Amino acid sequence: MLNGKTAVVTGGARGIGRAIAYKLAENGANVAVVATRDSEKARETIDNLQKLGVKARLYACDIKSAEEVTSACEEILADFGQVDILVNNAGITRDNILPSLSAMDIDDVIDVNLKGTMFVTKAFIRQFVRKRAGNIINISSVVGLMGNKGQTNYSASKAGIIGFTKSVAREYGRKNIRCNAVAPGYIATDMTGALSDEQRDQIKSQIPLGSLGSPDNVADLVLFLASDSSSYITGEVIKVDGGMYV
Ligand code: NDP
Repeated sequence: MLNGKTAVVTGGARGIGRAIAYKLAENGANVAVVATRDSEKARETIDNLQKLGVKARLYACDIKSAEEVTSACEEILADFGQVDILVNNAGITRDNILPSLSAMDIDDVIDVNLKGTMFVTKAFIRQFVRKRAGNIINISSVVGLMGNKGQTNYSASKAGIIGFTKSVAREYGRKNIRCNAVAPGYIATDMTGALSDEQRDQIKSQIPLGSLGSPDNVADLVLFLASDSSSYITGEVIKVDGGMYV
């Protein structure tokens, strides 16, 4: 389905990003994984991707830094020749009620989730325009649509991604570049691993399908958006949340 294509997955070393990287590779795509560091998990991810028979490499880069993003993206283009699919998945949380959020908690979340997504997209957009083809998938969150107490910084960053997605879709549709957002609900990863059993039960009670999602649930939707099966879809925000926000 994606044979010969190259995908960049930010935050692809673990969690949802790793499931996305595997799914795209299982369908034939070469994968450039961007993560903060060369961790054991990142190396394991790259090994597993290579075992699927595709080209895969890790790029250690803090997407908060425009300079680091520019040089990592240049390196990716030099190594892979071209990029066809960009999945902006890297993200962090620094949860607290508003008065208790430090300036750094606000800056970090906006810098990584929103500005990082913009930096990485900006680094690849000229290449997409030159070849008159590109596919961008941004990982937002249902809390970017519905809000959430204790997550004012995070939900604002995720709502920002939705505005960014729609603007990129409008600005580049005529160049045959699509840009969509995925809004996951609660997905079982390291990010949600810190929840207590009580919090987990409380969350489940708000989800019509009655359970947390898996990274694969998100990856299946990303594969659809990355493929030609979604060729007439752009500027869209698609939830994968077990009905949490209906
Ligand atoms: P994880 O915490 O499991 O993984 C996050 C990944 O992002 C890691 O690979 C990490 O790199 C990378 N990353 C973090 N900061 C940076 C940075 N500054 N520069 C480069 N890479 C960075 O997260 P999830 O898999 O749970 O979440 C993935 C995305 O999905 C996020 O955008 C999140 O907001 C979103 N999401 C998650 C939900 C959930 O319930 N889990 C729900 C809704 C949305 P490293 O491995 O080096 O640390």
